[in-house]
Amino acid sequence: MPKMNRKIICVSIVIFFACIIPLSYVHELGHSYICMMEGYTFDIELSLDGGRMVCHGEIENDILFRAAGGVLAGTAAIIPLVAFRQIRKYPAVVIGLLPLGLGHFLNAGIETIFYQTYMQDSVIWGMIMGLFAFLIFIGLATKYAKKEVNLH
Ligand SMILES: [Zn+2]
Repeated sequence: MPKMNRKIICVSIVIFFACIIPLSYVHELGHSYICMMEGYTFDIELSLDGGRMVCHGEIENDILFRAAGGVLAGTAAIIPLVAFRQIRKYPAVVIGLLPLGLGHFLNAGIETIFYQTYMQDSVIWGMIMGLFAFLIFIGLATKYAKKEVNLH
């Protein structure tokens, strides 16, 4: 295992954890937006193990409704990395945000395709997505936080 820059890793971990709750909120807002577009009201509940939302009505476009949460949160996490080149100069932001963004896109896929089991076994799916984000974090950290060789 290559030597990693400890400061970058620490900042990455802080960014990662600091963004979990805001991004779950954005995720629930994504579902809620579709709910709202169909003319219903909704409630969002946030907790440490993720968010939850209830749409008070029968959603017609349920595929869009299921996918919208993860897609919106994934996009929100990745947009700053794509849009601002300066941000990419800070590896900690990439290492902290990218796993969350990709995790939400994976979430969107799972939530849309495996909707039944996603609702029933939300703990197991949560663990799978957490593990996915963790592995990406480790991969990015290994790639971008190598200890720089000092040539001076
Ligand atoms: Zn969702």
